[in-house]
Amino acid sequence: MKGSFHLSNALQLEADAVIIGSGGGGASVADVLTAAGLSVIMLEEGKHIPSSSASPSAREAFSAAWRSGGLTAAIGRPPITYAEGRCVGGGTEINSAITQRTDSDLIDQWRKLNKIENFTPDELAPYYERAETAVNASLTPGPLGRATDILRQGGEALGWKVSELKRGQRGCKGANRCSYVCPNGAKQSMAVTLLPKAVDCGMRLLAQTRVDKIRIEKRRVTEVLAQSRDAGGQAVPVRVKAGMVFVCAGAIHTPALLRYSGPRKRIGDTLRLHPTIKATALFNEPVDAHQSRLPLAAITEFMPEQRIGGSIFTPAVFGLSLAEDWTNRGDLMRDWRFCGSYYGMIRPRGVGSVRPLPGFNEPLVSFKLAPEDWIALSQVLTRLSRAMFAAGARKVFPSISGHEGWTSPDQVYEFWNKPLPKGATNLMTVHLFSSCPPGEHQDSCAVDSYGRVRSVENLFVADGSLIPEAPGVNPQMTIMALAFRVAEAALCHSAQERARSAARDIN
Ligand SMILES: Cc1cc2nc3c(=O)[nH]c(=O)nc-3n(C[C@H](O)[C@H](O)[C@H](O)COP(=O)(O)OP(=O)(O)OC[C@H]3O[C@@H](n4cnc5c(N)ncnc54)[C@H](O)[C@@H]3O)c2cc1C
Ligand code: SF4
Repeated sequence: MKGSFHLSNALQLEADAVIIGSGGGGASVADVLTAAGLSVIMLEEGKHIPSSSASPSAREAFSAAWRSGGLTAAIGRPPITYAEGRCVGGGTEINSAITQRTDSDLIDQWRKLNKIENFTPDELAPYYERAETAVNASLTPGPLGRATDILRQGGEALGWKVSELKRGQRGCKGANRCSYVCPNGAKQSMAVTLLPKAVDCGMRLLAQTRVDKIRIEKRRVTEVLAQSRDAGGQAVPVRVKAGMVFVCAGAIHTPALLRYSGPRKRIGDTLRLHPTIKATALFNEPVDAHQSRLPLAAITEFMPEQRIGGSIFTPAVFGLSLAEDWTNRGDLMRDWRFCGSYYGMIRPRGVGSVRPLPGFNEPLVSFKLAPEDWIALSQVLTRLSRAMFAAGARKVFPSISGHEGWTSPDQVYEFWNKPLPKGATNLMTVHLFSSCPPGEHQDSCAVDSYGRVRSVENLFVADGSLIPEAPGVNPQMTIMALAFRVAEAALCHSAQERARSAARDIN
């Protein structure tokens, strides 16, 4: 990307604003600030992976673009594995780019619960529109393929609502490598949309530059301290002074960095995610899910509390998903062309936390499911399995280690209304949020209604951490909408601050 650069010497930089993290949140802040003519520096821990060098190998792609190669987990019983992007563009480079808005009733609930100012569905609508326009939210062209048809047939046969999902794409060619970084530039990730736009407006983007600490003195950030790498891989210290600092490092690393730097009150205490259980469905006819678009329909009948959808499928990704119980599931690899990978996700009542571990890059993340979450997981698994049989599955294997799988729809009620086996259930998530909830309730909210960290004049949060609770939908559009809103409010705030300081000078 034009404007991104590597370092050769220790650097001291200055700008109007510094943005930490280049995902959906950071890129949206950059869009607003650069359009307003501010000088902006963006610091991103991961590499820039242009479409032209996106690898078709799962191993290479995961190690280049996924944090810890995808091996991250929230501790708890059971541990919940989670995935985050770590590259220029963050999660938007490896996600499926499905675009959804949060339900208006939920937005209303959050406004009341946290006392969030100016937070009605109508007030958020222009920000959602801006996000959808930025990524060209649209229906994916071409026949969607058998993997999508299975969801549609299964849901409709049971009389449930099924919706086709819009995505951030432009001319998607169905390469089915969205989670490896799109090789065609068709996915409208941040690295092909808002980031080059911001760089064209003068933003300096430092890739492979990890922020270690935000220095705060007398209620103001004075400096951001980071480590970059020179061409030979040697560490190079970077210090940035800026009038405003936006932390957009994602729902895990934003609270970890803030807590390590000083502010702690309610920060990282309320992590939410969408606990997700997968099932493999085996059919008599080939599904050949690797040849079609990723499943682009979802069973939305039970939303926002529960959603049933399909996962990206390549032989390598399928093999990785079987690895959690290889002894019992490894044989399915022989029949991979006849398999589809589907999931049920819930909006949990449980909550987690994030704590930095001094001396380690990765914080300690934990998540505790509430008893009602276990019931919801059993229900969504039963519904998902019913849909698979209704679409003609021969066998359905829930992601429960050692489980033999079901061969008929009557068997899928095994766990209905009772908890899944805690020690054997494999849960995962790709949606993380709520670790710094906004609002005026100081006892429950980490930041104010506009993302400003309490007690620090010029420090803002603008990423998934800000979504007040689990939204029950794919979160990228909400993250971008909230980040646009924070950046606009910060511009007003800084104008007011400048006016106050000018007034002080005159007096
Ligand atoms: C496989 C997968 C599929 C998904 N599918 C969808 C989907 O279809 N639709 C949807 O809406 N959502 C989807 N999501 C979720 C969505 O991508 C994320 O919620 C969203 O990208 C998070 O945005 P963010 O700005 O909060 O954080 P991130 O995108 O995680 O960005 C944070 C950035 O900050 C960087 N960073 C972290 N710490 C530091 C530091 N100390 N210094 C410098 N940089 C740092 C990280 O490297 C990262 O690039 C998916 C996610 C995954 C992983
Ligand atoms: S399916 Fe292929 S072309 Fe389409 S967005 Fe994903 S990786 Fe890109």
